[in-house]
Formats: sequence, C-alpha cells, structure tokens
Amino acid sequence: MAGMTLTEKILAKHAQRDRVAPGENIWVDVDVLMTHDVCGPGTIGVFHKQFGKNAKVWDRDKVVIIPDHYIFTADAMANRNVDVLRAFVKEQNLPHFYDVGTDRYKGVCHIALAEEGHTRPGEVLLGTDSHTCNAGAFGEFATGIGNTDAGFVMGTGKLWLKTPPTMRFVFHGELPPWLMAKDMILSVIGDIGCDGATYKAMEFDGPGVYSLNMEERMTLCNMVIEAGGKNGVIAPDQVTLDYVNARNKLGKKYEVVKGDPDATFEFEKVYDLAKLKPVIAKPHSPDNKAFVDELVGMRLDRAYIGSCTGGKITDFRAAAKILNGNTVKIDTFIVPATTEIAKNLKTETLDGKTLEQVFLNAGAKIGEASCAACLGGPADTFGRLNSAIRCISTTNRNFPGRMGNKEAEVFLASPLTVAASALNGFITDPREYFA
Ligand code: SF4
Repeated sequence: MAGMTLTEKILAKHAQRDRVAPGENIWVDVDVLMTHDVCGPGTIGVFHKQFGKNAKVWDRDKVVIIPDHYIFTADAMANRNVDVLRAFVKEQNLPHFYDVGTDRYKGVCHIALAEEGHTRPGEVLLGTDSHTCNAGAFGEFATGIGNTDAGFVMGTGKLWLKTPPTMRFVFHGELPPWLMAKDMILSVIGDIGCDGATYKAMEFDGPGVYSLNMEERMTLCNMVIEAGGKNGVIAPDQVTLDYVNARNKLGKKYEVVKGDPDATFEFEKVYDLAKLKPVIAKPHSPDNKAFVDELVGMRLDRAYIGSCTGGKITDFRAAAKILNGNTVKIDTFIVPATTEIAKNLKTETLDGKTLEQVFLNAGAKIGEASCAACLGGPADTFGRLNSAIRCISTTNRNFPGRMGNKEAEVFLASPLTVAASALNGFITDPREYFA
C-alpha cells in the first residue's frame, strides 16, 4: 500500500482515520476558524440562522476574528461590517479578536495569524478568505471556505471535505539575490495555468524551498489559489519550528506531521533556481507569465508594495536595498501587511537609516497596515487605482478591477522588480541593481 502525502496524513488524522485517499470525502475536525470584516458578517448571519439566535460557537478558543480589508475608510457599510464583528465578539466572549483602534489591531489576517501564533504544524486551519492557503507554509492543511461552510464550522467545529490529490513542485539550487519567492510562484502559476491545480494540494519541496525564511514560504503557499489549488503545503523543518515556537504565545501543543517517503504524487515538476529569471504576470491574470527582461521599458504610472504576499518585512528589506539613496519616478505606495511589520519599518536600518526613512527619502508614500488597495476597496482606500492607470504591484491578483478601476492594468512582480521599476517609471529588470 502506497504511503500518504503530507496533506493526506493531516486530513486522515483530523478524520480519526488511519488513511485517506484522494477523492475520498471525510468529516474533518477544525483547529482554527478565521474570519474577517468582509465575510465575517455573512458567516455570523449563517451561524445564527442555522444554529439559533442564542447559539454559541463550538469552541471560543478556536475562532479568530481579524478585521483587515476595508479599515481606514469613511465608507459607512465597511465600518458597519466591523461593528457587526465587535457585537459578535462581545456576544460570544471571543478571546482572539484583533480590533481596529486598539493596540491589538494587526492588519492583514494571514500574516496576523502567523505572527500571533495561530498557525501550527499538523493542524487544520480554515478561513473565509481564499488566501487562507498561506498558512500551509507551516506544514498544516489550510484552505479558504465560503460563508456557508464557515457558519457550519462555527457551530460544529467540523467540515465535510474531499481529500485533494497532491502535486509536488521541487526547487533545486539556491535563490540568487535578484530573485524572490514571488518569482518562484509566478513561474509555477504561469507554467500550469490558473486552473492547473484545481482542487489539488500543491506541495513545495527541495533545497530551494528550505533555504527560504517563513515569510517567503508564506508567499509560495499564499498564491496556490491563483492556480486553483485547494491548499499549499511545505513540510516543517527547524526554521518552521523556530518561528512557530517563538510565536506560540498561547502555549498550544501541536504535533508535526510529515508525508510518507513512499507517498505518491499526481504530478511532479522540478525547477532549477540557477536557471530562473525575474518573472512578471501581465494583465489580467496571474498566469499571464512573462520574464521581466521581455517587458523592459514598458511605461508605468504607479508602483505598489504591500499585501499578504508582498508586504512583509522580507519584502520591504528587498525593496529598500534598491530604493536606498534613489528617488522614485512614479507614485509609489508602501503598505505593511501588519502593525508589527509597520513597527519594524521604523526600527530596522539600512546604511544608518530606518527602512521607513529609506522609503520616504525615495519619495514613496507609506500607508497603514491593512489590505489597502490589494482588493480595491472604497474610493478613499490608500493606493487604490481610481482611474485607468498602469500599476506594477507585489500583490497576488491582477484581474480587471481587482485594485480598483476596471480599465487599470496591473502587473504582478517581486518587491525587487517593483522597486527597480519605481525608480525608472518603466518595467525594469532588478538584476541591473545587482551588478
Ligand atoms: S492583502 Fe489582498 S490578498 Fe491578502 S487578504 Fe488582503 S485583500 Fe486578500
């Protein structure tokens, strides 16, 4: 009998079974359910409708509520959504609420989950956001679900799931200084297409993956949904455990799960990082892949460095290396994913200047920790594309209208490529800055 993949083993454990096979439907016990200001009100509505006005969530210690999307706006409906979350947290006496306007406010949910110790190896984490797959970087099963499923999980702690088959992506070699995890995942998505991994687990492996820090591993897993993946996953190593143990403020016990050595994969693709070049996704799809050197010179109106997949401290360290001592030629927006990252921008230094000073000196604007313009949002959202302009961005989606105006064009790239392009006002190969 063939062994099981990491995803299959986690799911089998949470279904109290010895083994599961791809395609099997199982009831899975959930360790963490996350919701935010966009989907929280709908989830709460489903929960109350199905379980009753006075129902209690299945386990108040396993529900995490993180307002992050439409936060710094005058939009009344957006503000009302956060009020709905506040009322529910009070009603249910929930301990894990990161409310805006308090010192608990964090910013983008996926990075907040990791920083606040809610991501642990071997667990099942579900969230009402498609990029919940981000947490697979910690060796757990993590996926996005809709409000109806989330309302059910809220009441029962369980979900009926189909076991996905696993595709494996192996990266050999070392990442050169001009490449980042964003180049790796844009390569994969470009190669297999936006539907290339539909309802499949995408497991990342190889020395090129294990040389990445946890933020970069999150960037890989975050974007599996752009290939239709059910979940992304990386087996834990010491780097994972060090991050998790340092963040495990709640003192939660967890059990590391690894795939069997004789596990079978539905598909395998091997990459050599020494042969990879900076990658970009052209409008209007993350799989519309090109190499940056094919588009050099294309005029741009805006640069944006932010989001759960491009607004972490690793992303800003990279951008700062290029922006340091230079001046941007186009509007450049910097949005830290979380308040912790925002604080680090004020304390981490490069050549005696804080990263914040590097960005401000270069002429960039810095916004508050949140999703900001990654998802467009209300018209007063920081960095939103309010007209038909051309933007290069470290975010994860470039569908029409995703960052605001439906006629705007968004190119997705690494923070290095975005920073280099910001300095010239046209698409620029970051290798120019590593001569
Ligand atoms: S930063 Fe963007 S992709 Fe990430 S959770 Fe927010 S809107 Fe979604």
